[in-house]
Amino acid sequence: MSGKQVALITGGTRGIGLAIAEALAREGLDLALCGVRPAEAVGEVLTQLRTLGSEVAYFQADVAQTADRLRLLEEVRSRFGRLHVLVNNAGIAPPVRADLLEATEESFDRVLAVNLKGPYFLTQQAARWMIQQRQQDPDHQGTIINIGSISATVISTSRGEYCVSKAGLAMATQLWAVRLAEFGIRVYEVRPGIIQTDMTVPVREKYDRLLSEGLCVQARWGMPEEVGRAAAMLVRGELPYSPGLVVLVDGGLTIPRL
Ligand code: NDP
Repeated sequence: MSGKQVALITGGTRGIGLAIAEALAREGLDLALCGVRPAEAVGEVLTQLRTLGSEVAYFQADVAQTADRLRLLEEVRSRFGRLHVLVNNAGIAPPVRADLLEATEESFDRVLAVNLKGPYFLTQQAARWMIQQRQQDPDHQGTIINIGSISATVISTSRGEYCVSKAGLAMATQLWAVRLAEFGIRVYEVRPGIIQTDMTVPVREKYDRLLSEGLCVQARWGMPEEVGRAAAMLVRGELPYSPGLVVLVDGGLTIPRL
């Protein structure tokens, strides 16, 4: 067991979560990652991450499931014995993009469970553990980062449940930032725009066109590494007087323009 700080990153084996994992490994943290795929499917990714010098563990867990969240934290506790950083990154788009007038309750329930309920209660559980650690070691400092989305404020009528989940997560960030400040736990949101990952593969051509038509100030896709760098900045403690801060990584998409 190394003496490094430990980060738990949900959905940390691909896309934005993997880029955050790489960035935090470079910052010198050990990594606990989770996802829904079985461990055998992520072996190569873990081997690659270990070349950065970190201890890396993977736990299969669905953040939408109460029992999985509890088991995940128990597994991190028995493997590492400590936790300094939680990155609530795991998230899903609606399985089917459907108009508000057509979309189903099933899709709403699933998207809200993964994107909002999961992070909300994983934060509750992780925070309780971080508070215990702080009681034993007054120097312990926790950081919790929610990966939100510009969909918290920019509407898409073909995926209302996603927008609602990310708007809820934005409020959750502020709630937890206020509640946990007295325990030295910093809570932030990193809010990406349009990032090149598996999630955006089905809409790549649509966004290529929108980007070329001026959707963002910067006419290009964002890269997962750019979200990783934002998370690393927060974990390094560079913004200690900014509880609840929303760090935009959106190429200027949300700047209102005439
Ligand atoms: P990907 O689809 O590329 O990766 C999603 C990750 O989340 C995967 O590792 C997946 O696990 C994991 N995951 C999904 N569902 C669950 C679950 N129920 N329990 C645990 N893990 C789960 O997505 P991105 O990297 O693009 O997105 C990451 C986050 O960034 C999401 O919260 C998303 O909403 C947000 N975001 C993305 C944007 C984009 O343009 N790509 C823009 C704004 C926000 P596994 O690997 O096992 O399948």
